Amino acid sequence: MVSADNLDGQIAYYTMEIGIENDVKTYSGGLGVLAGDTIRSFADMGLPAVCVSQVNENGYCKQILEEDGTQVSEEDPWPVEEYCEELDVEVTVPIYGRDVTVTAWQYDVVSEKSGETVPIIYLDTNVESNDPDAQEYTKRLYSPGYGEDHQLAQEIILGIGGTRILDELGYEVDVYHMNEGHAALLTLELLKRNDMDPEAVREQCVFTTHTPVEAGHDQFDWDLVNEVLGEFVPQETLKEYSREQDLHMTYLALNLSRYANSVAKKHQEVSRNMFPGYDIDAITNGVHVPFWVGEDFIDVYDEYTEGWQENPYKLKHASVIPDDDIWEAHQSQKEDLIEYVNEHEGADMDPDVLTIGFARRATAYKRADLLFYNHERLRHIAETVGEFQIIFAGKAFPGDEDGAGNIREIFHNAWELNDAVNVEYIEDYDMDVGGLLTQGVDVWLNNPRRPLEACGTSGMKAAYNGIPQFGTLDGWWVEGHIENETGWKIGPEPEESKPDETPAEEEDRTDAMDLYDQLENTIVPMYYNDREKWIDIMRNTMAFNGPYYHTRRMSREYLEDAYTQ
Ligand SMILES: *Cc1c(COP(=O)(O)O)cnc(C)c1O
Repeated sequence: MVSADNLDGQIAYYTMEIGIENDVKTYSGGLGVLAGDTIRSFADMGLPAVCVSQVNENGYCKQILEEDGTQVSEEDPWPVEEYCEELDVEVTVPIYGRDVTVTAWQYDVVSEKSGETVPIIYLDTNVESNDPDAQEYTKRLYSPGYGEDHQLAQEIILGIGGTRILDELGYEVDVYHMNEGHAALLTLELLKRNDMDPEAVREQCVFTTHTPVEAGHDQFDWDLVNEVLGEFVPQETLKEYSREQDLHMTYLALNLSRYANSVAKKHQEVSRNMFPGYDIDAITNGVHVPFWVGEDFIDVYDEYTEGWQENPYKLKHASVIPDDDIWEAHQSQKEDLIEYVNEHEGADMDPDVLTIGFARRATAYKRADLLFYNHERLRHIAETVGEFQIIFAGKAFPGDEDGAGNIREIFHNAWELNDAVNVEYIEDYDMDVGGLLTQGVDVWLNNPRRPLEACGTSGMKAAYNGIPQFGTLDGWWVEGHIENETGWKIGPEPEESKPDETPAEEEDRTDAMDLYDQLENTIVPMYYNDREKWIDIMRNTMAFNGPYYHTRRMSREYLEDAYTQ
């Protein structure tokens, strides 16, 4: 059996963002939370690993919502020195023709289960020896509003700076894992260290792509690259490993990695179409189970699925959990959520009303407003079939006007529907709010436009709390969905949907109609009139999906298929 003994050194896991705990503001969303869950599992498994990321002392974005839902984005600083140890290490990287100093902080992720540690090395350029511009580079995640050259600078620091820092710190790295293309410049540093031999670099690198949209892959103009990075390696060489028209981080990573993967089976298809000729594997994402399960379900699992924290495969035995235990644990977690919403948002929600949750980055393709497609239908269901209430949360990327518009839309719809459906929007979505929501709603709604959701992990968190997902068959839901057993689908089966040939308006209409049909004919009536079947579905989400959608399984796949091959 493959184990960590098959490694000749450390796994160096590079990620621009990581969500390790709520108040360490080095994450923005799914990519970062996944990185955090991965590193937690690496520590549980005692894998020899080190994580490289960026310190972001001013955080990502604190969201303040005005009366009408307009998002005001503020900086979100966190006290780095309270969480991290300052390391006595210093390297330089070339940016705009000068040497920029990079230093580092260490945060130790210690497993409560195994006692093993995986360090996170947070890179920092805010030091006196740097000029004021350079001091800004690592202050904000993705540098909203600072322009592309700042982004490229951050990627130079992560890829090249991170690799030099690991070297200075004495890490013997066996495999460099690029979690998304932001870290791809590390391949250039490795090329230089290996006499520009691409085979030697490929042998050391693996790459995970997370983005099913062409525009989502970082691409930098050659003019910009020349100015910011200069001739770090000859441009001809860069063109050879990227592509002719620009520096494309995904091509660079794909061309200089021995292994590449996507993050769900469906995403594999999409990635292979987007990057023909590359052998892209699929390792479906997961979540760190003990981190996302609410207190009440922890007790239930302890009683019926002993050993589940060390080994989430044991959640198969969730099939024996009695109805009452499931319902009581669920209602207790739901009450915690409703209490929070009522207190923080001045809401008037009721724990006995069917509660639908929707929380994720506010961006057009996630279609947070699909539910409001037809007010009459929604009203009709609420007034004649059964009451329901909806809780939203999510930030728009600062500067994303469409995403910000989505939030205003929801506020506007909520106001128009307020006599029939109670709609609340929780301000400043973060890991704590994400936890509360995925532990406490009755149904997790997820209706992205196909095929734009690479995987999605919030529905997995819900599943571990016995909460069924109601969603379009995209990302992980293609794998985790069994109709009327683990949740419900919205719209066509994957083989029947033709996103390339379907205009967006038509997809919206078809999906919205099916969403209403499902609510009206299945979900709302079942919740109020067939509690036994409802609880069966809750149990299935845990027993069917619980054994699979966790980062322990995922990390094992990375170890076997990526790191030790
Ligand atoms: C889990 C999580 C996400 C990821 O959600 P998706 O379903 O992948 O969109 C994003 N943000 C936070 C705070 C989370 O906890």
